[in-house]
This record gives sequence, structure tokens and C-alpha cells, in this order.
Amino acid sequence: MRQTRMLIPTLREVPAEAEVVSHKLLLRAAMIRQVARGIYDFLPLGVRVLRKVERIIREEMERAGAQEVLLPVVCPAELWQESGRWERYGKELLRIKDRNDRDFCFGPTHEEVVTDLVRREVRSYRELPLNLFQIQVKFRDEVRPRFGLMRGREFIMKDGYSFHLDRADCEREYDRMFAAYCRIFDRCGLRYRPVEAATGTIGGSRSHEFQVLADSGEDAIVSCDRCDYAANVEKGAIGDRAPVAGSGSAARGTGTAVRAAATAGAASASPLQAVATPEKRTVDEVAAFLRLPTDRFVKTLLYVVDGGDAVAALVRGDHTLSESKLKDALGAQTIELAPETTVERVTGAPVGFAGPVGLPTRLHLIADRALTGITDAVSGANKADTHLTGIDQARDFPDATFADLRVAAAGDACPRCDGRFVLQRGIEVGQVFYLGTKYSAALKATVLDAGGQERVLEMGTYGIGVTRTMAAAIEQNHDAAGIIWSLPLAPFHVVVVPVNWSDERLRTTAERLHDELEARGIEVLLDDREERPGVKFKDADLIGYPLRLTVGARALDRGAVELKRRRESAATEVPVAEVAARVAALVAEELRA
Ligand code: ATP
Ligand code: MG
Repeated sequence: MRQTRMLIPTLREVPAEAEVVSHKLLLRAAMIRQVARGIYDFLPLGVRVLRKVERIIREEMERAGAQEVLLPVVCPAELWQESGRWERYGKELLRIKDRNDRDFCFGPTHEEVVTDLVRREVRSYRELPLNLFQIQVKFRDEVRPRFGLMRGREFIMKDGYSFHLDRADCEREYDRMFAAYCRIFDRCGLRYRPVEAATGTIGGSRSHEFQVLADSGEDAIVSCDRCDYAANVEKGAIGDRAPVAGSGSAARGTGTAVRAAATAGAASASPLQAVATPEKRTVDEVAAFLRLPTDRFVKTLLYVVDGGDAVAALVRGDHTLSESKLKDALGAQTIELAPETTVERVTGAPVGFAGPVGLPTRLHLIADRALTGITDAVSGANKADTHLTGIDQARDFPDATFADLRVAAAGDACPRCDGRFVLQRGIEVGQVFYLGTKYSAALKATVLDAGGQERVLEMGTYGIGVTRTMAAAIEQNHDAAGIIWSLPLAPFHVVVVPVNWSDERLRTTAERLHDELEARGIEVLLDDREERPGVKFKDADLIGYPLRLTVGARALDRGAVELKRRRESAATEVPVAEVAARVAALVAEELRA
């Protein structure tokens, strides 16, 4: 391929709208252009990378026994009403009407549509198991589309769905998909971690996310410094031992244990006392005002459960409530922070002054385990501008139930061994879920088993963000000059750069090399522009081709050209006659690895 025939409008300037590296480099390297917020054009180089990611995914899904289908982008509302998600999914679901005023949505995920297909077409257990996947455009009207391809509104996803007669078979498929995902991200050359995950709006009971490790990642994950346990902080089960300050192993054994639950268990004689805290609502505000540490506080948050009753969820002032843990602990479908009016009605006080003492007795109090036995604690008094000090859990709110409700943090105890959590950031590139019968029961997708009994299908669902994977690869592999593609994802394996296109000797050598490489099946771009060598080198580094062949007069006098890897700074001279074989061997080796 010749560069002058391609649309590759690279940019020298860093685009102002881009915050993260992958977004900047995708724009500068002429891979994408923004059309509207979270909606992009893919230029030829971007499409080449995208197709590479897709091909790896396709090959591994097929190898694992899944079959490709293509479901509609525009989906009828009726199916979403059947599952109950038409109401539940919220504003991320782009709803549209056709000319007859009928409701449709632009598919953000396809559990309903695929379950509908299977319930119509599959009758017998003999047709199971079945694993169907597609690679398709999705639309989610994200509140904050940002970071380029990392969080778009229109993006490309591989979504897969499997159907089984029983749970054991579905779990087996889950493990197969888990292994296939590992192969996919290995082949993409990414450093990643599968972590235990919350199940979000998709639902289900078992889930892992595949997190590409990168400081720019939007997700926080904890991993044990001793064993292989790792989880999203929203989900990470926290062991019973008291946390240590600092992050993980570094702090272990240094005796810097945080006061466990403000000295849990120590009998306190401190009486309850109301103190005036005018206009001080948040833990930080009250802590500063009363000059007390935040770990003495009990934070009280009211949630509405499944659109009905309220519950009061309690966490220590220095901890963060995990809504997904709360939802799991309550066995709820949905939970939502209670609106101001509900808070006022239940607590009798304005927002900011709720506390566990003196709430209506029928209100369910659910507390994080770190609050077990807390004494001499501070919380809202359920009265305007007032807090209570001297709270003793056992004495003052003995009826609370306890669960693991807080977001995991560095230094928390591993639930599996005596290790400690370390905190890392990640980009979620994929997620697998065991769904059970959540959608099949709602849509009545059943088959007849061997005994002629009707059975509701067991389901799993498996997604990969194809475009997000592209961005994640860049977040992890770049330098000051540009992208550093791994060979399997690169838009071209090698770029041939004649330093002077008007020099006939250089030009013909470059053309011959290009043709030889192409004949060997190598993806090669010939930079045939009448540009200064510096411009060509800058573009080659910015776009990030793994290999560069430079055809210059001096080396050519010795019958050689320069071969340079994007990852390395030094180049080596290779005799012209050997170049094609040498490059072909390098490419084959890296594609195999
Ligand atoms: P997130 O928590 O990042 O919003 P999600 O958990 O809602 O993602 P899933 O429903 O699990 O996403 O979708 C499967 C995959 O699709 C995700 O693992 C992610 O890689 C990708 N994905 C989801 N939302 C987006 C988006 N807005 N832009 C690009 N990729 C996305
Ligand atoms: Mg997810």
C-alpha cells in the first residue's frame, strides 16, 4: 500500500478536547475523528486496527465453539418491556419511534433480542448448548462520554450469549469463555487481570471483568499481595481482619493498624450527647468542625429498595458505601438513593443529619461490618443542625444487621488468605456473567428435556468492548513520540521509508522491498511522499508501526537498508537481499507469540 493513496491526516498539535493519551494519539495518528459527543468516524488506519481486534476475537470465539450471528441494532420496545428493562435501564437507553409511532430502542446490549430468537427457534435439549455471538455497533447514551474510544456513546462490542439445560453446563461454558477471553487479551499483547465483578444492570450472580492495567483506567481494582484474588473495589470481599494503613505489603507488619472500628468491643461509658452542628452536613464538614477523625463517624444513607421501602445503610465515616454490595446484601433488583422528601419524612430532619439512633423502629438498618461494636461514635441526630456523640452500637442501635458493604481499599484484608489488598487502576475491556434464568424466565424461553419436561434455559452473557480494547492497547503501549502497536494489532506490520523520494535509486529500492514484502503476505506501507525524512519518521513513530525500514543513500552504498523496531531506539543494517526474509521471520515470530 502506498501512503499517497491513503487518507492519513496526522496532526502535529495535541487536540485540545482530548484528556487521555489514547484519545490524543488516536486523533493525532489519524485513526479517528469526532463527529458528535462520543460518536466517531474511523479513518482507514483506525479501521485496520479495529479489524485486527475483531479477527482475534472471532477466531477465539469460534475456536471455543461459539457461532456468529448478527442481531438488529434497532430493537422493538416490546421485548424490553417483557424483561422489565424498558423502565429500569434509564436514560442510557436511546429510545426512538418509527413512523407509526411505535417504540424502539437502539440496542445497548442484546439479552432480550437473542433470548427471543432462541425461544422461537430452539425446542429441545438436543439443540443445546448453544453459544451465539455478534460483533456490532452498540449505543448507550452515557451521561459523560469521554476519553475518546474509552467511553463512547456509539461503540463496537462483541456480545455473546449462551444457553444451557442446567446450571452445571452453563458454569462450564462460563469457564470456557473465561479461558477464551484470556487468549484474546494475550494475543492482543495486553497486560490485564480478570477480577471479580459486580453484576450491574445486566444482572446475574457470578461475574468477572477483564481489566487492562493502566493508571488512566476509570475502574479501581484491588488485588491480594499474597494470592491471586483480585476484584473490582465495588465487589471485592473484605476479610474480617482489621485493615492496615497504607497500601498492602509495604505497610504490613509495621504496626500501623488503623484503630479497628474505633476500638471495637471496648466497653464505653460515654453517654449520648447532642451537639450543635449548624449547616454542617457531610462527614468531612462535621469532623473538621468537631475536630474529630472521620473514622469516629457513622455515615447514614437512605436508599429506596425496588421502588418500595427505604432502608438506612451505614458505613464508617472514612469508608465508602458500595451500592453493588448493598444491593446484593439486600437481595434487591434495584436500589436508589432516597429523594430529599423521603429522607425528611423518614428521619424528620433535612438531608445531612440522618443517624442510626432514634429512627423509626420498622426501618431496616443495615451496617457495614466495620461498625460492629463501634463505641464513642458520632452521627446525625435526625434533627436539623444537630449531631450525636458518644454513640455505642451495642447500646444505641443493636438491631442493625451487618454485612460487607464498603468499597474495598488498599490495606484491607484478603478474604482468601492472610494477604492484604493493593490498589490498581484498570480499563474494563470485557466482562463475563453467569445469568441463570433472569432473562429466560422473564421471556419464557424453555426447552423440553429428555423426560419431556419443560425447562427454563440457563444463560450466560459475555461482552468485549472492541473499540475500548483499541484505546486500552494505546494507554498501555505508547511513548512521547506516539503509539507502539504490538504486531497483532498494528495497522501495518512495517513501513518502508525512502529518505528521498525523488532519488531514483532510493525510490526503486523502496518499491522493490515493498513488493517483495507484500508478496510474502506482510502488511507493508510505502511512504512515497515527497516529504523531508524528519516528517516521515515523526509520522511513523506517531502511528506506531512495529517495524520501520529506512532506505538511505549511505547504507545503500553498502548494499544495505536500516531496520528499526518501534520499541527500540537503535537500528540495524540489513543487506537488501536479506531484508524481506528477515522481516517475514520477525513478523511470523511475533504473530505466533
Ligand atoms: P462500564 O462499567 O465501563 O460502563 P459496562 O460494565 O456497563 O461498562 P458491559 O455491559 O459489561 O459494560 O459491556 C461489555 C463491554 O463493552 C465492557 O466491558 C466495555 O469494554 C464495553 N463498553 C461498555 N460501555 C462502553 C462505552 N460507553 N464505550 C466503549 N466501550 C464500552
Ligand atoms: Mg461491564
